[in-house]
Amino acid sequence: MAPILIIDPGHGGIDPGGGSNKLFTEKDLTLKISLYQFQRMHELNIPTAVTRTTDQTLSSEERTALVRNSGARYCISNHINAGGGRGSEVIYSIYASAALPRKISEALEAEGMPNRRIFTRTLPNDPSKDYYFMHRDTGCVETVIVEYGFADNPLDADKLNRDWRDLAEAVIRAFCEHTNLAYRPPEKTGSNPPPVVLPGNGEEPDWKREAIEWMYEQGLLTNEDWRNRADEPLPLWAEAVILRRLFEKMRG
Ligand SMILES: [Zn+2]
Repeated sequence: MAPILIIDPGHGGIDPGGGSNKLFTEKDLTLKISLYQFQRMHELNIPTAVTRTTDQTLSSEERTALVRNSGARYCISNHINAGGGRGSEVIYSIYASAALPRKISEALEAEGMPNRRIFTRTLPNDPSKDYYFMHRDTGCVETVIVEYGFADNPLDADKLNRDWRDLAEAVIRAFCEHTNLAYRPPEKTGSNPPPVVLPGNGEEPDWKREAIEWMYEQGLLTNEDWRNRADEPLPLWAEAVILRRLFEKMRG
């Protein structure tokens, strides 16, 4: 059965992508987002393909051939932006409609990633051709490039690093809505690990609870995943985020 959608994790292999920073590399984050989406589409029983599943180099010719020959109706090409901006950008072909890009941008916005713009772009010397090869050379597949946010914007970078699963999910939701395919949210036991239930009654002593709630009230900790994991260590990056927020608060 031909896939309806082919997901394209941008870059890969020798090409790390420009949307990288100290927290992540574009090629790794786009792969994580894409594999998450691929898995979710599988759960939703929607035939879906993917251009790469590993840290693999794909030339633009190889990539567009995979999309063109996939038999898919749509392609979502996942990217992380850079270059001074804030928020998501969704780019579509001059020959396509803005409907799916608009849905995607709204879904990302609902997950807390503001939308910067949705747009099309043509070759400077030929206004009949798309600027991006993913639009120009992917034949009749409707390809949408999703730039989830800016790696060089601290707010976006933090959001992408913490909530990439929610953003990836938002795109799936938007896609299903646009194509009238049945959507169900992920089960609690899905890719977002459930809060660990502690031995005993699972209740935290008050002093632990209070200290944790204080961190949330102060905005030092924002990811809800941590709230019920009083006895679990935070990854180093999360500690670094907390310390940086504290430092910035104290400096006023
Ligand atoms: Zn990119």
